[in-house]
Amino acid sequence: MAPTRREFAWGALACAAFNGPGRAAIPDTQRVGASGIDLKSMDRSVAPGDDFFRYVNGAWLRDTPIPSDRGRWVEFTRLDDLNSQRNRAILEAAASSPRTPEEIKLGDFYASLMDENGIEKHGLASLKPELARVAAVTSPADLARALAQLSWDALPALLGGASAMPASPAASNVVVDIKNPTRYLPILTQGGIGLPDRDYFLIENNPGFAKARAAYRAHLAAMFRLAGMDDVEARAARVYALEERLAHSHWTRVELRDPAKRYNLFAHTELAAKFPGLDWDVFLQAVGFGQLPTILVGEPSAIAGMAAAAREVQLADWRDYLAYRVMRGFALAAPKAIVAEHFAFEDKTLAGTPELPARWKRAGAIMDRAMGHAVGRIYLASYFPPAIRARADAMTRNIKLAMAKRIRGLPWMADVTKARALAKLQAVRIEIGGQQPQRTYEKLTVARDDAYGNVLRAARVDYQHNLDKLGTPVDQGEWQLVPQTVNAQANPVMQKIMFPAGIMQGLFFNPNADAAVNYGAIGVVMGHELSHHFDDQGAKFDEHGALNNWWTPDDLAHFTAATEALAKQYDGYEPLPGMHINGHLTLGENAADLAGLALALDAYRTSLNGKPGPVLDGFTAEQRFFIGYAQVYRSLSREDYMRQALATDPHSPGEWRSAEIRNVDAWYASFAVKPGQKTYLEPDQRVKIW
Ligand SMILES: [Zn+2]
Repeated sequence: MAPTRREFAWGALACAAFNGPGRAAIPDTQRVGASGIDLKSMDRSVAPGDDFFRYVNGAWLRDTPIPSDRGRWVEFTRLDDLNSQRNRAILEAAASSPRTPEEIKLGDFYASLMDENGIEKHGLASLKPELARVAAVTSPADLARALAQLSWDALPALLGGASAMPASPAASNVVVDIKNPTRYLPILTQGGIGLPDRDYFLIENNPGFAKARAAYRAHLAAMFRLAGMDDVEARAARVYALEERLAHSHWTRVELRDPAKRYNLFAHTELAAKFPGLDWDVFLQAVGFGQLPTILVGEPSAIAGMAAAAREVQLADWRDYLAYRVMRGFALAAPKAIVAEHFAFEDKTLAGTPELPARWKRAGAIMDRAMGHAVGRIYLASYFPPAIRARADAMTRNIKLAMAKRIRGLPWMADVTKARALAKLQAVRIEIGGQQPQRTYEKLTVARDDAYGNVLRAARVDYQHNLDKLGTPVDQGEWQLVPQTVNAQANPVMQKIMFPAGIMQGLFFNPNADAAVNYGAIGVVMGHELSHHFDDQGAKFDEHGALNNWWTPDDLAHFTAATEALAKQYDGYEPLPGMHINGHLTLGENAADLAGLALALDAYRTSLNGKPGPVLDGFTAEQRFFIGYAQVYRSLSREDYMRQALATDPHSPGEWRSAEIRNVDAWYASFAVKPGQKTYLEPDQRVKIW
């Protein structure tokens, strides 16, 4: 259905944002003018054509300290901090005066994590049985069972994003079958190393990686010491060697992006022959895949490497490896000394963060993972008024229409491919706010005096929740994000894009601001997510969400050449001395930003209905569109955080996301950018995909 004129009436609606019915109304106090531009953050002494990022954000970059409990400071993390204050109010209210059985659980769980004295007094008591369990591994069957348990005991890294590593070296999970999206499949994937990526173990000539390797060895020894174990240096050396061996067989982050290469179906009975070394019967039974005829294997050579290590590495080394894995999970709800050691390595060494976040922030982050949909139910009622949802709804519909128009107008695409692309676009559903209905937690048992037990039980309930999907029809409503998450997501297999309530605020979306800046900010995010269904990987899925090539060879060749040009452009950027952006790791995200800019600008122009956009704060409408885009991606990173992001994050750092405007002709026109200026690209060097 075509959107009506009324849906574009931005300025006039009175906004009820942040005055919802809940008890936890904490407003975002950031103030910007009616143009939506944060004027005092700009640096007008910089020419837009020389450095647009600093022209828009220069004063902010100069005057803003990175908070001491953060490795980077961007609009995502600023809003995450704001939401964590709201979550705190929600959780404290649940702990002191719960209204429903679910709020009792929320409150008791949170109170258990906040009970610093209780946790300190309890010491290692609840860790001991877990350590005893892995110390009793004396046979290949025991090892298989203990490796399986790692998948049961790990809370999914809802907040860790794409760079999070599964806890187990053979991580089991349940996914939608990408070749037959009406059913679920069990999957095994690589994981289980304690540095952020194989590169950290294997790349010799990066001083930052070398520093992290040395710190990891020291950290392993420190954790063993804290667990009361002896001979800690030797144990650390052996665990390090085992992980380094696993890292050798791990796939690279670029290889992990290719869904076709990661689709390897094996008969249950084949695994033992294809991947010898692990007691597969015991392992598959223990992960809950015992009765299943076929198993998907994400990275066969990595699983083969893990299985060979199961046989060839002595059990004593595996016992220490498992003990460290247990300690790492325990650190979420442990006495101070263990929390401090965990933080010193994970956040200080690997991300440069100077200070441990406040206890309530850490507890809130765990609650987001353990019972995030229950927190989200209250968050939605308190912070997501219907008017915001309606606006977001209207904008996404306009972006979708813009995409249809772009596809129809592509000069290089054959009609037959266009018809498939349009059918695929039509099938994409747009969901805003949070999963409906929200997930509930009836099966979770919570005890107010058992923090670690609560964390383990939440992880196991979550894993069972996934196992229970096998054999059932695919739940089309499911989200991986919770409503308070400051992010958005595209799922080409489920054929939908999702915008949690958490991102519909701040510089992304300002209900009191003029439309241009909102289209440049959240509008580009919407176009970004929609276009993920058509990025270098998303484009491999057809109009039914199945991995199936629908392109003519000529069209595919053109599309691939255009995306390769973008990869090459990003390979040229060097955020840290000697460390470039990986153009192929970030290709999907960079392509999505480029498409998002084109789609959101089209949609904004359509929304004007033939009239010129207003001039506000001295900026034309299209200038504000681009400023809105660049101010959303203002970002400050500590060096260690940046190194980790460059190695693992499929998104380019904010400064280079904002550099995408170099490919957009309208940006040159808006700011009269001339040849010779530093960011100028000749027209034939500007990448165009859609
Ligand atoms: Zn993306």
